[in-house]
Amino acid sequence: MAYLDNAAGAPLRPEAAAAIRAATDSGLTNPSGAHAAARRARDAIDAARDTVAAALGVDAAGVVFTSGGTEADNLAVGAAGSARTGALVCSAIEHHAVLRPVLAAGGRTVAVTGEGVVDLARLDEALDPKVALVSVMAANNETGAIQPLDEVVAIVRAKAPGAVVHTDAVQALPWMALSGALSPVARCDLVAISAHKIGGPAGVGALATRGVPVRPLLLGGGQERGRRSGTPNVTGILAMAAAMRAATEQRADEVARVRALRDRLEEGLAEAIDGVTVSAAGAERLVGHCHLTIDGVESEALLVLLDEAGIAASGGAACASGALDPSHVLLAMGATPAQARSGLRLSLGWATTASEVDKALDVVPKAVGNLRRHSRRIGAGVL
Ligand code: PLP
Repeated sequence: MAYLDNAAGAPLRPEAAAAIRAATDSGLTNPSGAHAAARRARDAIDAARDTVAAALGVDAAGVVFTSGGTEADNLAVGAAGSARTGALVCSAIEHHAVLRPVLAAGGRTVAVTGEGVVDLARLDEALDPKVALVSVMAANNETGAIQPLDEVVAIVRAKAPGAVVHTDAVQALPWMALSGALSPVARCDLVAISAHKIGGPAGVGALATRGVPVRPLLLGGGQERGRRSGTPNVTGILAMAAAMRAATEQRADEVARVRALRDRLEEGLAEAIDGVTVSAAGAERLVGHCHLTIDGVESEALLVLLDEAGIAASGGAACASGALDPSHVLLAMGATPAQARSGLRLSLGWATTASEVDKALDVVPKAVGNLRRHSRRIGAGVL
């Protein structure tokens, strides 16, 4: 199989698998307790917290471990309520983990350009001193378009100085440095990440906070300094930290290797298939993302053929049912509903090989050709 759905979830890295085995073998359990076993678990979590804090450029006390990116985003949106009351604003292309809580709280969205990048003039117009939180993702999960966070932060500080800036860095994490002077993510007040996008396990993530009080979603035993009750997922947290260490060490090599593979894939498909548009082609994009719209081809039908031929891809964002609604990201970029149903996301990751790309270059054009022949025959009344 060619696994080209890394943006949905990357395979477990060997370093993360080793951390899971080590945590399991050493019997790490609940870190809340007054005995040696609990202390060992606590020490292990503290070390993992240091790793995550360093990668995200915050103090260890600013890291809240969560059950994944969705919880981290929801926690971030809720944090605005403890900072102050006021309007919530997010870009129109946020993942539903941000979009839904923002809209549920009566918030509003800001338009993006045709390249899938938040429209800075519209953001400027949307802000006033009553805004409590602005959320703009570091990079989009469907197109890979990297968002201009430096400019976003500057506009928020000027127009809504009391507002908290949140960024969903779930997709950016494998490819971009999230700490250090050169990283715009480091200038945001809240940063959400998820382990399974970098080769850690699903079901664990974190919210990094820079001095922003967090209003807990879960009340209970007061773990994570009262910000997230519930016994922490010790094994998952250690595996996430191991995946983050590996991803950070290997990032420069992986970025160069994967960019070359992605470019070869994208150029090859654009050449072999008529009516292909590379989404967000004019924007700076994450190196692992190849997102196309293909004239007259519905993603749902194409994905079935690709699956049969051994290619794992997606139409855009994965949702619980696997069903494909027209993509809200493509619609926000100005696509028609038909175009918004014709997305194909091939996403590469740390484990992607050249032969997987070769396979996609062979199979995708054939599958598109078959679908088009089929619909021509239906159109001509032959089928
Ligand atoms: N935010 C973005 C941009 C994502 O791509 C995802 C997952 O696809 C999430 C949030 C949710 O993360 P999780 O699956 O860990 O809940």
